[in-house]
Amino acid sequence: MSAIYKNFINGKWVDSVSGKTFENRNPANKDEIVGIFQKSNTEDVNRAVEAAKNSADMWRKYPAPKRAEILYRVAEMLIKKKEDFACDMTREMGKVLKETRGDVQEAIDMTYYVAGEGRRLFGDTTPSELPNKFCMSVRIPVGIVAAITPWNFPMAIPSWKIAPALVTGNTVIFKPASDTPLSAVNFVKLFEDAGLPKGVLNMVTGTGTEAGEPLILHKDVKLVSFTGSSDVGRFVATDCAHKMKRCSLEMGGKNAIIVMDDANLDLAIEGAIWGGFGTAGQRCTAASRVVVHKAVAKDFISKFSERAKALRCGDGLLPTTDVGPIINESQLNKVHGYTKTGKGEGAKLLIGGDMCTDKGCEKGYFYKPTIFVDVDRNMRIAQEEIFGPTVSIITVGSFEEAIDVVNGIKYGLSSSIYTQDVNKAFVAMRDIYAGITYINSSTIGAEVHLPFGGVNQTGNGHREGGTTALDIFTEWKTLYIDYSGRLQKAQSIE
Ligand code: NAD
Repeated sequence: MSAIYKNFINGKWVDSVSGKTFENRNPANKDEIVGIFQKSNTEDVNRAVEAAKNSADMWRKYPAPKRAEILYRVAEMLIKKKEDFACDMTREMGKVLKETRGDVQEAIDMTYYVAGEGRRLFGDTTPSELPNKFCMSVRIPVGIVAAITPWNFPMAIPSWKIAPALVTGNTVIFKPASDTPLSAVNFVKLFEDAGLPKGVLNMVTGTGTEAGEPLILHKDVKLVSFTGSSDVGRFVATDCAHKMKRCSLEMGGKNAIIVMDDANLDLAIEGAIWGGFGTAGQRCTAASRVVVHKAVAKDFISKFSERAKALRCGDGLLPTTDVGPIINESQLNKVHGYTKTGKGEGAKLLIGGDMCTDKGCEKGYFYKPTIFVDVDRNMRIAQEEIFGPTVSIITVGSFEEAIDVVNGIKYGLSSSIYTQDVNKAFVAMRDIYAGITYINSSTIGAEVHLPFGGVNQTGNGHREGGTTALDIFTEWKTLYIDYSGRLQKAQSIE
């Protein structure tokens, strides 16, 4: 008998009013049901927003250092639960245990980091142009926040949104991805255990259209903080534009590693393996393109493909596994569709290109690490986000051409260059148009206290992480205090 998990509304765990539920299955073994979750609808969303609205005034006035104390308690409890939560996460979305431990760790780091803001949340003071007048700016909460998250970082990404939203005095309705509701339940439960007042954080599980959309459209939701695909992000942006509400969007990527002719090749290969096949390529920052200088291309391709061929697919709970499953059947078919597209476009399939049916993989959605060579920069496999273990290698003749290829896409999240030439490293830092550039390191490895996000169709100008996250979840308010006792007019008006 599978466990049944509920929505969290106004401090209580409740069934959906729809009376419907959905199963969450292990992508490494589709016979295994991880849990049964609520299939929420508009009415559930309305109740969650009502709860968030009713607690908004109390929470806005709750001293920020006290809000932060609750976050510190959540972080402490996360440390204790790290291993259990990592195992649950591997069972529900497949990535290998060392990566799910990293996911929980990121939530710990973010919660601690943001809790520190409870005693900062700095504004500015500045002199007035008039005598006996004082000027300052302070942050105020936006109000009611909808946090809508993808499945590939089931605890880290919710923490990027929920922790800064709460410390800045907002109340939240969280709608996790339907492939990873268990990690969402695990995370939210800690806020309850840490003593968060009822109604401040609410969670509804369910599909994007049935639970996500009514949340975005709700008149009382002031900010939608969304992470997911660019296609859905476009819907979110359009819906929010019609309602004139703020939205912060973190979306897809088509990230590249440049390998220059003077690169430390072994290091570059390690980086390309981690970037291309970590999380089975299902990261927004995955290195799905490698742009390699022709002088080292042959050597790089031969060693890189040897390494990739040796990677073992399997259940992420097993220590022998390097690459876990694809999240679900439709995504598996999408990844395989891109293999057919690549072949049809004339790229050469070097390794992989098919489902993995090795022992232990029979019941899951496994795909072999796949490498294409002879890829033209404009092919669909070099332009579109595949979100699977597929790497396209593009050979270039110069450093300038490499930068041009990296920039020649509609996305702009992460990027990397392997070179020993400090001048080229600095030019790359200046000229690659992306939210993140790594030097002599893969496209993966964000740290919570730095801004995270991308340009072009990856984002809409916001950055999570770092102090920049505070700008998403607060409005600036400017305060003028005149203690002259007379009417003073600015701009020298007499
Ligand atoms: P997705 O866009 O399918 O879903 C994301 C969330 O949006 C889910 O909770 C989903 O239920 C919800 N949703 C779907 N349709 C909706 C609608 N009409 N209205 C409201 N909500 C709706 O993405 P996914 O498959 O879960 O995640 C993979 C994508 O996320 C990839 O494109 C990846 O690059 C991206 N991603 C981006 C970042 C980043 O920070 N830039 C991080 C991780 C993942």
